[in-house]
Amino acid sequence: METPHLGMEHQTIDAYGNRYCLNGYGYDSLLQHEFTHEWFGNQLTNAGWDDMWLHESFGTYMQPLYSQYLNGDMDYFSWLHELRLKLRNHHPIVSGSSRTEEQVYDEKAGPGQDIYNKGALMLHTLRQLIGDEAFFDSIRRLVYGRPDPQLGNFSPRYASTGDYVAIVDQVSGRRLDWFFDVYLR
Ligand SMILES: [Zn+2]
Repeated sequence: METPHLGMEHQTIDAYGNRYCLNGYGYDSLLQHEFTHEWFGNQLTNAGWDDMWLHESFGTYMQPLYSQYLNGDMDYFSWLHELRLKLRNHHPIVSGSSRTEEQVYDEKAGPGQDIYNKGALMLHTLRQLIGDEAFFDSIRRLVYGRPDPQLGNFSPRYASTGDYVAIVDQVSGRRLDWFFDVYLR
């Protein structure tokens, strides 16, 4: 739905006000970002605000990923470089305890925009570490709760950071706590 607000996901519909601006990569990144939430937000929801990166890191990584699909590696790495310039690195993305939305988005006392940009870079690194097959398998299992989603065999679900780490361990056959300790915790 077109609104005066730039962009916000809501269940079953997005508020959108970017006037279909192309982003220099050949598509409207805001529209694409909000659509990723329609997929995640209606099928997978973060268990708590401390797990909000599950929405925004994946939602942000989808823009470089889509650019790689559209135009190849040059656009993909150009996107990653833009995200890198936005890194803050003041607080861990995941605190390990229950937090409010305000605490997570607080740019001084919380991770703030790192749940978007640093989290997306973390997913890029994870993808290089475990390979495309395991990486995309991990997303499928995170979102649908099973490796073989078909219409009728899954329902909307909640997941936490710990759930995703366990999935990555399972699909990669490795113990990657050290990786998530460094980049998330
Ligand atoms: Zn978002």
